[in-house]
Amino acid sequence: MSATPLVTVITGASRGIGAATARRLAQDHNGRKTTQTKTDLNPLVIVLTYASNQQAAEAVAADVRTFGVDAHIVQANVADAGQVKDVFSVADNVGQLSALVNNAGVVGLIKPFADYSVERIAETVNVNLTGSLLCALEAVNRMQTDRGGAGGAIVNVSSRAASFGSPNEFVDYAATKGGIDSFTIGLATEVADKGIRVNAVRPGLIDTDIHAAAGAPNRVQELADRIPMKRGGTPDEIAASIAWLLSDEASYVTGALLDVGGGR
Ligand code: NAP
Repeated sequence: MSATPLVTVITGASRGIGAATARRLAQDHNGRKTTQTKTDLNPLVIVLTYASNQQAAEAVAADVRTFGVDAHIVQANVADAGQVKDVFSVADNVGQLSALVNNAGVVGLIKPFADYSVERIAETVNVNLTGSLLCALEAVNRMQTDRGGAGGAIVNVSSRAASFGSPNEFVDYAATKGGIDSFTIGLATEVADKGIRVNAVRPGLIDTDIHAAAGAPNRVQELADRIPMKRGGTPDEIAASIAWLLSDEASYVTGALLDVGGGR
């Protein structure tokens, strides 16, 4: 009898850190295939979500498949509870959910708080904070051992902004990441004896498209000097941390907020 496929859901995996994480998890799984016998390694399926960039999501899925890992893409706004349910229905159809990476996130234009619109605040909170909670809600209901699940791991993508507050830039964004940190600690404690580990990575300045959305496409280069390592990070460097937190190597790690910021 063939082993049940284990499913990892990664939100916002069409670009940046989410895309790098999908590729990294597929690569790691492929590596394990060479060291373990086929019978003791469950196949991995990655469900990748995106907001609007279907072509980019398809390209990431194609990269994942080159490592012999199945991939499905789903368009979903994580702030919409119905669309989030659809994502997890796709996961249910292809195997048993064992991991969630709550990565999808948005940031508004850099400006003083007094100039924010109500719509901007709502969008930032709904996507970054509510979206992560909605996805985690679907995940724990499938993974908790006291609800018929087989356990699993969740990684929430927070930010070093949670500590700094991002004054004069995007305090709304920083506040959502502070919320993610509290949520990580609380949920981790709640489900620690129910087979689920919950951790967060807190990236510093990482070279992705998100800075263009904030109106500062060259932000990483411009601010690199403020970072002790004198450079921005790469999506691959965050993906490596996420992959470790999801892996059995981190089997006794839960409720951790892992700073990956080049010393800042
Ligand atoms: P990115 O390159 O801008 O990619 C964002 C991803 O999220 C894309 O896949 C996008 O899909 C998706 N997305 C956007 N809005 C969404 C929504 N409403 N519902 C579902 N998906 C949505 O961002 P990134 O830099 O990789 O950031 C990933 C995570 O890392 C975010 O949580 C961010 O806050 C965090 N982070 C980033 C940095 C950094 O310096 N880059 C630092 C700290 C933390 P489409 O491609 O379809 O638009």
